[in-house]
Amino acid sequence: MQIKTAEFIVSNQEVFRCPKNQIPEYAFIGRSNVGKSSLINMLTNQKSLAKTSGKPGKTQLINHFMINKEWFLVDLPGYGYARVSKSSKKTFQKFIITYFKERQQLISAFVLIDIRHKPQSIDLAFMKWLGEYEIPFSIIFTKADKLRPKTVDTHVESYKNKLLDFWEETPNYFITSSTNYIGKEVLLKYIDSINNELSIEANKLPFQ
Ligand code: GDP
Repeated sequence: MQIKTAEFIVSNQEVFRCPKNQIPEYAFIGRSNVGKSSLINMLTNQKSLAKTSGKPGKTQLINHFMINKEWFLVDLPGYGYARVSKSSKKTFQKFIITYFKERQQLISAFVLIDIRHKPQSIDLAFMKWLGEYEIPFSIIFTKADKLRPKTVDTHVESYKNKLLDFWEETPNYFITSSTNYIGKEVLLKYIDSINNELSIEANKLPFQ
């Protein structure tokens, strides 16, 4: 898929205020500093569509971007900052949980994981939670350029093994680097293939 247009639509802290358009939506989420803004900018060919983090945890908003006038890319707040107060963490958790539970346009989440680090309990707990609520998701490993290709493979394998401790199958995953444009085409192709399937479904006549 070529991204021809990427427009910022709206930021919200309340799920009921999010756009009402009945179009497929894909949500990007991960720990603060994981490389989410850089990834979104890389995917959309923009320099600063998503704001790269100055002060992690300052803006906790659901950001909707319209892509090719066909689907929404949703930039969700990063989780797991040390600097955020307990009460604001709670508010954050609440509105993110509401988003995932109630947003019926959501087709899939992408959970971003920094490829350099060992599996972190906060990410694993979040993925378990998504699994329990049957919210489809894939993993996006970020910053692959920071490791040698062999080490990337070893880290992915060890991550997969960790996930197999509690699931029979591992979710889909993508290896990316925003610096080197790794994974861009594969990821966009994946989203495109889901969008195509959805539009075929939507166009089916009722008697077919
Ligand atoms: P966010 O907080 O998840 O939105 O993360 P940012 O996109 O702001 O990135 C956090 C830091 O990681 C910044 O210093 C980025 O330049 C750096 N970064 C993000 N993606 C990559 C990547 O693919 N490769 C490298 N080497 N650095 C990255």
